[in-house]
Amino acid sequence: MTDAEKNLDPENWEDFRRLSHQALDAALDDLMAVRQNPVWRETPPEVLARLDDAAPETGVGLEQVLADFARDIQPYGVGNRHPAFFGWAHGAGTPVGMVAEMLSAGLNLNCGGRNHIGVALEQKIAAAMARKFGFPQTASGLFVTGASQANFHGVVIARRAALGAQVRTQGITARLRAYASQEAHACVEQAMDLAGLGTDALRKIPTDAQGRIRLDVLRQAIEADRAAGDKPFLLVASAGTVNFGAFDPLNELADIAAQEKLWLHVDGAFGALTIFSEKLKPKLAGIHRADSIAFDFHKWAHVPYDAGFILVRDAAAQRAAFAAPAAYLSRTNTGLAKGETWPCDLGPDLSRGFRALKVWMTLRAYGLKTLGESMERNCAAAQRLAELIDQSQDFERAAPVPLNIVCFRLKNAPDAANRALVERLQTQGIAAPSLTRLDGRTTIRCAIFNHRTGAEDVVAFFAEARAQAKALT
Ligand SMILES: *Cc1c(COP(=O)(O)O)cnc(C)c1O
Repeated sequence: MTDAEKNLDPENWEDFRRLSHQALDAALDDLMAVRQNPVWRETPPEVLARLDDAAPETGVGLEQVLADFARDIQPYGVGNRHPAFFGWAHGAGTPVGMVAEMLSAGLNLNCGGRNHIGVALEQKIAAAMARKFGFPQTASGLFVTGASQANFHGVVIARRAALGAQVRTQGITARLRAYASQEAHACVEQAMDLAGLGTDALRKIPTDAQGRIRLDVLRQAIEADRAAGDKPFLLVASAGTVNFGAFDPLNELADIAAQEKLWLHVDGAFGALTIFSEKLKPKLAGIHRADSIAFDFHKWAHVPYDAGFILVRDAAAQRAAFAAPAAYLSRTNTGLAKGETWPCDLGPDLSRGFRALKVWMTLRAYGLKTLGESMERNCAAAQRLAELIDQSQDFERAAPVPLNIVCFRLKNAPDAANRALVERLQTQGIAAPSLTRLDGRTTIRCAIFNHRTGAEDVVAFFAEARAQAKALT
């Protein structure tokens, strides 16, 4: 064997080809059987024990690793591919996304920068999303892990816009104040903490009965902060709240942001992509006036994890918050180091993967219309579930259902009973709703995000939930 042959490529490509085709077939078989398998099963202790040898000195080879994968990894996922998975806000993934991830790994692009197709495709997706949201074509965007990170970026960019370049050398010198509704996702508060502003600097504004930020209270809070000598700088709107899918009134918030000279950031983690649906997109009226939008392709667009995105109206503002002062010095006019703005100028990551490929393949293969119609089917299934709850003797609804999320409880039952019911449904592998707290009470929450979930699935789920509730009492 020559020195060059002592590499990590297979010794026998034909054997490798056979094994990798088998792996792909097994993965497809597993996807096709999703509906027949339990929604979730807990990883048994003996499986966890086998995984202790995660980093052996001597390798076991692909054939053995694939067998280990089939036995110890594949069966014990989150369950979000299953049509009866109703927890949190999870995307289901698609077969197209699976193939895209494999092809992306084959190319192994580093999308932090340089002159190559990975960087160009990311910019094309930013431009396409800018068009879709009604942003100018000069807007810029960046793939990040998820909306938590995208919201953090929003705070950092707004902070730089409010305090100027010196915030990057001298830190925070003013008492900045931000505003979001009480229903805003916890990651907004975390972003304030991470950005050095402190969670107390986020004013949590109460909501109306529909879960939308109260504009009168918001105006008062801004005024009170100004009177106290503080510096309001950021308004975070929720487009799809995590508890039950409420949309803040974006046009009204854009008016307030303009009057008060605040940065308007929209947390549209799952809700922003309802822009793909003709029926649902009126909820986003005014989003074209935002300064930045955070959203996830991995939730309602079903791109495999992870695929968060931050879109910023003013490209210069995004760049100013992250680019090294002398970034341009490392760029050339031709060759691999060409390019005015690289992804590493728009965020803190230098090495980063090719998230753009799986998004491009998903959007191109299915088309936005089909993805939007899948969201509409989820909303119709949520309405069906809400009807069943409203008609039943044993359950009652706990919140309005403006979108695809249904919150409900057992009638006349303590918190513990609701918790026990959800745990029972999960551990028996029947369905996976999750729990939340609403009005200080434990509440069952069904978020219908899966493109595989039909109205008949929620009917079957509800019958099971009733039967299991009876079995509990
Ligand atoms: C899921 C979610 C987030 C966090 O997004 P990740 O992709 O999980 O980081 C933020 N806001 C809302 C409204 C969400 O639903």
